[in-house]
Formats: sequence, structure tokens, C-alpha cells
Amino acid sequence: MWNPLPDTFAISGALVYDGLGNPPAPMDLVVTDGRIASLRPDGELNLTGVYRISGTGLSLAPGFIDAHSHSDTEILRAPQADSKISQGVTTEVTGQCGFSPGIAMRKNERENLKGEEVGWDDLASYAVALKRREPAVNIASLCGHNTLRQMVMKSEDRPPTPAELRRMQEILQLSLRQGAAGLSSGLWYIPGKYADTSEMAELAKMLQGTGKPYVTHMRTEGDNLLESTREAIRIAASGAGRLQISHIKTGSPKAWGLIDALLDLIGEGARNGVQITADRYPYLYSGTGLRMILGPPYDRVANLHQVLRESAEEREKLVALLETPGWPLVPFDRTIISNSGLPENAGFLGLTLVEIGKRLGISPARACVKFLTEEAYVYTAFGRMNAANLERFLALDWVACGSDAAAYPFDFSQGRAHPRAFGSFPRFFQAVKKSCGPAAAIRRMTSLAAAIYNLPKRGVLREGYHADLVLFNEDTFVDRADFVNPHTICEGVHSVFVNGKLAFTGDDPEKRGRHGDFLRV
Ligand SMILES: [Zn+2]
Repeated sequence: MWNPLPDTFAISGALVYDGLGNPPAPMDLVVTDGRIASLRPDGELNLTGVYRISGTGLSLAPGFIDAHSHSDTEILRAPQADSKISQGVTTEVTGQCGFSPGIAMRKNERENLKGEEVGWDDLASYAVALKRREPAVNIASLCGHNTLRQMVMKSEDRPPTPAELRRMQEILQLSLRQGAAGLSSGLWYIPGKYADTSEMAELAKMLQGTGKPYVTHMRTEGDNLLESTREAIRIAASGAGRLQISHIKTGSPKAWGLIDALLDLIGEGARNGVQITADRYPYLYSGTGLRMILGPPYDRVANLHQVLRESAEEREKLVALLETPGWPLVPFDRTIISNSGLPENAGFLGLTLVEIGKRLGISPARACVKFLTEEAYVYTAFGRMNAANLERFLALDWVACGSDAAAYPFDFSQGRAHPRAFGSFPRFFQAVKKSCGPAAAIRRMTSLAAAIYNLPKRGVLREGYHADLVLFNEDTFVDRADFVNPHTICEGVHSVFVNGKLAFTGDDPEKRGRHGDFLRV
């Protein structure tokens, strides 16, 4: 393993941000055996004989914490975590949106890892499997309700029996004991959407006394945003009284005008004793499956692509529906095809359905149905968000940076990412720096997430804390990834350290130290 530094080294003369939002100061920092051994004003420490990295002209911050990551299994396939480490991320919190494969063995994992023996049946054995892969970043995981429900009830659209509910509670409790950072839900997805509020509240009860949050991708982020938020607050109140709203947004044109009411509701929840925080990626396009463009009843057809493949009549029906006024749910000119498993579609990636339709000489609706027929899941970016609202969310001091993306390699061997996978942190930093200043921006990329998820001794530069660090140039720290070239590395990162070891340098981005750990909470 690449590890060019001694166990004790110093970073001297950098402008140091502590991660708590305090004004920065020039300081020297000494790392010994993975921890911050000393942190003192520049020039106070005697560094004679200590291996020294010059931080002059650069800024030093705690390694960034991705408050919303989907690296659960991707980190096993791409443990070098190129997309994350290259923007200064040293810890990711996975198990989001109700999906936490880490708590249960997935049958196909062995094939996905190309013959390598990786398997697990609970979070503790997932942690062992993860460490064996030597990930470049640290991973903490939530326990996801979609996964729990899938394990106990498959994809059935009905309430659980008392015995099934008990079984889900038991698996959740075991996961929490094994270090899960909280309970997540994705009530917008199958099978999470089949759960009612009381099912969620019964599960959230397992969080009582743990201080761990209920983390939710809410039932809807669009027209019924306020009802979903009320539901989320109610569920969190049955748990530890802590709510983390995933990728907070006003997700449809109708919801754009609801932002004030949403913030009032959150204020009211807080006054009633529920501590509410959120995460957000700094982009106006979301990333999810193409079928979300359809809405009911099509979004509930589990094998939609097979149905379409077998019946020209069904395909025509869907084309006709999509061409009716009021459809689709997202305009075709704001629907970008981000990824496809079919090589013949490579030339379409990064283009809108309108652009693809033009190239093929067919209507955008037909282009849409073509993709829905070809594959079960077509990764798509939908532009349904509002720029002014995004700016307001990013200015809130309780909103952490979360990429909502998995770890990707530089190449496209694991598919093509949303540009947020490679660019969220520099983009968040520059946006929040403009409205709130750099120290506040860094706090929301570091200690805020550590506090939300109770990550021990991370997210702050303090003696005795783990030496997860990023040395970077504030001015040139800028994202370069877009939908056409989504795997483009950001600028301005000098070096990244994970658990006191060098993990990445901007001089040679391919070189990687893989010293991440599983973080038990
Ligand atoms: Zn989500």
C-alpha cells in the first residue's frame, strides 16, 4: 500500500479551519499514529526533526464528511473511491434513502465483484468485508427501512403483520447495536412507499435512548411536500427526537412556492422538541430512475420494461399518455439520460430526451419509451428544482453537504455518475462561502455531519481527534464535472489524509492510500 509518510509528520503554516465555524488562523499541526497530536499557532511548536509538509498559501480543514452517500456496495467495487477522495471527502455516511445493503447479504454481490469472495449477513460482517477491501475513505452506515421491509416482506403492498413488524424491529435493533448510525427511510420508493406512518413510528421507537436520527427521503418532495414533512416530524418524535431530512428540496414547480411554509413547519417542529437538520447537494438536477417521469400507475409496475418489451400496444399506450397535455411529470427538455448499460446508447448520455429524439428522428415521448423498454433502470437527471430555493437551502446553518452519490472510479467501469459525484464539495463550498463565509461553509462540510450522525472524534481539528484532513487552495477549489463529462476531477485539492495517512495528492491523482475504516456509532 502506498504510504510515503512517516507515522509522525507535521503540516506547517496552513490557514487552519477547525470545522466548528471559528475564524481560521495560521497553525502547525502534528499527526502521530493516526491522531492529531498537537495543533498550535504557527511557530509555537518545535518541529526540529519532524517530517514537514508545507501548508503555506493553503488551507487545512477536517476531511470532508459526505452526509448522504450511496456507496454501500459501490465502495466494495471501487474502494479507491476516486470521486470522493479527489474532492477531499474522508468519510461517507451510507445506508441512505431506506437502502442499506450493508445490513443484509445481497445474493448477487459475489458476481458483481468479479469472483472475489465478498459476502455478509449483518452490519458487523459487512464491516469486516469492507475493511478487507481497504477503502480509501471511512464509512458509517444507517439501517434502511426499504432493506428491512424487503428482507421480511419482499415487495408486498400491504401493512406488516405484528410478527413481521417485530422481525423488522429486531433486525433494526441488531444493526443499531452493531454500530448503525440511525434509521433511514425512502418512502418514495418501492417497497418503502407501502409503509404507513404508524409502521415507521413503530420502527423509530427503536431509536429511543440512542440519540440516533431518523433520516428520511420523504414520501414526496413535490406537490405534497408539507404533508410529507409533517409525517417525517411525527415519526422522528417517536424516535430519539432527531430528524435528518435527506436532500431537502422543493421538488416540483408547484412546490417551489412552499419553501416558506416548509421552513415554518421545520421551525415549529424544532420548537416542539424535534431537532431537525438536513443535507443537500448543490445542483438543480436530481438523479434517479427514468420511470419516475411516469407517476402512477406506471411507477408501481415492478416489471415495466418487460411489459413494454412484450407488447407494442402497451408501448403505444404509453407514448400516447406521454404526449397528452399535463404529461410527462418532468418536461422532456429537462430530462437528461445519465447512464445506460447498453453500449449503443453511449452517444446519448448527457443529452435531454428532446435532443435524443431529434437525433433519432422520433418524438421525445418515443425516445422516453425506447429507454424504458430497453432496461429496468435508466439513470436519469431531472431538472425540477428552483435556483432561488436552492440558494436559500444552502444558506441555512443546519444544512450539511451530502452528495447523494456513490463512490465512482475515474473511468466509467461502474457506470456514469451525476456530476455531483465528483463536484458536490467544491461546488457547495464556493456557493456557501459566498453567502456565509468560508468557515461556515467548512463547518457544514465537516463537524455538522459528524454531529448529526454522532461520529466519534471526527469532523473537527482538535488534539486527540482522528487525523482526517484536507489541504487545499480555497480560491481554486472548484468543480469541473458536468453531465457530458461527469467524471472530471475538481481543482484545488493539494492532499487528503485519512486516519493520519496520505490518501490522495493533487499532483498524482491516480496514486492512492487506502486507510479508511468502518465507523461504528
Ligand atoms: Zn434519496
